[in-house]
Amino acid sequence: TAAERGHDVVLFEAQHRLGGQLALMARAGERQREVSGLVDWLVDEVALVGVDIRLSTPVDASDVLAEAPDVVIVATGGTPEVSYMEMGADLVSTAWDVLGGSVRPEGRVLVYDDHGAERGLAVVEFLAGKADVLGVTHIEVITPDRHVGLDLATPLGPTYLRMLYEGGVTMTPDHRLVAVESSDGGLLRAVMRNEYTLAEVDRMVDAVVVEHGVAPDEDLYVTLREGSANGAVVDLEALAGGRAQPAFTGTDGGYLLYRVGDCVASRDVASALLDARRLLQHL
Ligand SMILES: Cc1cc2nc3c(=O)[nH]c(=O)nc-3n(C[C@H](O)[C@H](O)[C@H](O)COP(=O)(O)OP(=O)(O)OC[C@H]3O[C@@H](n4cnc5c(N)ncnc54)[C@H](O)[C@@H]3O)c2cc1C
Repeated sequence: TAAERGHDVVLFEAQHRLGGQLALMARAGERQREVSGLVDWLVDEVALVGVDIRLSTPVDASDVLAEAPDVVIVATGGTPEVSYMEMGADLVSTAWDVLGGSVRPEGRVLVYDDHGAERGLAVVEFLAGKADVLGVTHIEVITPDRHVGLDLATPLGPTYLRMLYEGGVTMTPDHRLVAVESSDGGLLRAVMRNEYTLAEVDRMVDAVVVEHGVAPDEDLYVTLREGSANGAVVDLEALAGGRAQPAFTGTDGGYLLYRVGDCVASRDVASALLDARRLLQHL
């Protein structure tokens, strides 16, 4: 949006390719690969409008300031969050670990999904689709919601449910994973608490995968905040009303600083695009 409005834009990306978490999601299976189309389109668009794209370039505040920017938009996303667990956070893996290939679960796998949309079920589909290759013998998906996939968009519900039933996946609603501990024979004991009775039940499994969304990667944003002209403040009423941010019309020098997407909170693609559009369309 900024480049379309005629600004010179530099885009720093730590990875060797653009796409962030969407690139990860596209690894899950055929259905999720459709998202590659969105990434490809956005990559084409930024190239078309002449954005200076610098891949494999993780930046800190000094790198950003070296560009002498008028406006800084931090879109650093987030990192998987498992610290809510009462015990055993170090024994679980995340959707990122599994889809990124750094962890290969096998045997009996418990997937805890308290996100309710595609983040968690993409991993389940990956495991179900590659069960033979990975040596996965059983998958149970557990959610604190009233049913698995509670937050899926309506058209997606039946297709994911078909996958779950055809894959023989056990679905357990109304339970929150609270702890994991090592047990005899290399197994893990996963403890789940009923949302309504608080009664605890456990499962003995080979691997536990947790999808609990991401915690914002806000270090860069926080470091840049002090030197910003607007104190990194967003006028939310102006944002929601589709109006320009006050600082766009009256700054006292320095750069304007904003953040968008999962760097604000664990959300989705539409939120990231809308954040950016609303902030930059008046720039
Ligand atoms: C498995 C999975 C499935 C998902 N499914 C869906 C779905 O179906 N629908 C949906 O809407 N959303 C889905 N999401 C969520 C969606 O991918 C995120 O909400 C979205 O990607 C957030 O975009 P973002 O640009 O804010 O952050 P990210 O996608 O996390 O991108 C942040 C980028 O910033 C880069 N970066 C970070 N720090 C630095 C630095 N210091 N210097 C340079 N670069 C840096 C990172 O390398 C990364 O490329 C899914 C996520 C996952 C993991």
